[in-house]
Amino acid sequence: MRCLLVEEEVHQFSNLVKALSGEDVSKCYQCGKCSAGCPIASEMEILPNRIIRLIQINSKDTVLSSSTIWLCASCETCFTRCPEEIDLVRVMDVLRRLSLEEGYRCPEEGILRFNRFFLASVKNYGRVHELGLMMKYNLASRQPFKDLGQGIALFRRGKIPLRPQRIKGMDQIKGIFAKSKPFLEREASGGGGR
Ligand code: SF4
Ligand code: SF4
Repeated sequence: MRCLLVEEEVHQFSNLVKALSGEDVSKCYQCGKCSAGCPIASEMEILPNRIIRLIQINSKDTVLSSSTIWLCASCETCFTRCPEEIDLVRVMDVLRRLSLEEGYRCPEEGILRFNRFFLASVKNYGRVHELGLMMKYNLASRQPFKDLGQGIALFRRGKIPLRPQRIKGMDQIKGIFAKSKPFLEREASGGGGR
């Protein structure tokens, strides 16, 4: 009986991740192919395969306070390489969600800030207004001239419009945001101070 309880405790975090993402991380046998192909791996403090291992051994605090979960670009390279077809993008989504819900401090404040401005633009126009997003993000980050040269070059080529353009079908966008309200409110609080 004691053994069963201990086993249940050890698998608590991986079971939660499985319930929320549908992905069974216990299948991972640490081949490392996900990390070997990850384009962001060099920036990550904990490689994607190690994140999976930490979930397996119930190291919830380490995983949910890690910058890796915020740096993941959801590119799906890892998923296409994984011999066990574990969808790490789904796993990372769930980890970010849990991190916010459970009040962990986001170590990558710039990413949260970018997400907020991105979503505000989508909420207002149904799409991103790149120029507005870039200006707001740079001002909030206190680096107003960051990437100015690239911005001007794109503008000159007509790649980024001056004015935001609202899409048709804003009612559907409003509906999506209404459904997501509880999560967005937690996201806006930026996590707690764990
Ligand atoms: S989805 Fe995330 S973890 Fe997977 S390869 Fe892309 S950046 Fe790396
Ligand atoms: S590729 Fe799949 S099996 Fe291999 S380490 Fe990554 S998650 Fe685990």
